[in-house]
Amino acid sequence: MQQTAEYCGIKVNEKGLCVCPFHQDRRPSLKIYPNGKGFYCFSCGAGGDQVNFVARYHDVSNYEAAKELAAAFGILLKEPVTYREKREAINRQRRRREIAVFVREAKIYLTVYRGLLCEAIRARDEHFWEGLGSLTYVEYLLECLEICPEDVYEDKKVVSKIGAVKGRIAGWYCPAEADGAVPG
Ligand SMILES: [Zn+2]
Repeated sequence: MQQTAEYCGIKVNEKGLCVCPFHQDRRPSLKIYPNGKGFYCFSCGAGGDQVNFVARYHDVSNYEAAKELAAAFGILLKEPVTYREKREAINRQRRRREIAVFVREAKIYLTVYRGLLCEAIRARDEHFWEGLGSLTYVEYLLECLEICPEDVYEDKKVVSKIGAVKGRIAGWYCPAEADGAVPG
């Protein structure tokens, strides 16, 4: 991502920040994330990956931007040629997007739930046993989401458990559901 910004002639400082080219920025408010994790401007909210950055910077399509980047960095592009290849490429892209959305939401639910469980264990309140029973499993799931998000996404049982966690958080402070633990 930093190479991409620099390719566009933008200087990135040692904190990974640069002046945002997408709004009238006076001090660096655009963050460049390491390991290809993209960029985000804390001021105007512009964000995305290397391709989005170049597309927006040069006001061209993502496709044009990808071609330009590939040429600039000597990456060989194999363009989908047949209808079937194009369809497959679109499906792969859609799937990647679906997984990204799923992972982002799952992490939020699990992190909130983990916080509630930790608090219950600490406070020894009515959710204490649920805390003891579920905390390890929730932490395991969070780890899986980091390591193998695709496998988690594929596993229907796990997906439904994460759905149950969402419901559990919603019902956490309802006394009627006080013992509705999410089974591990
Ligand atoms: Zn900005």
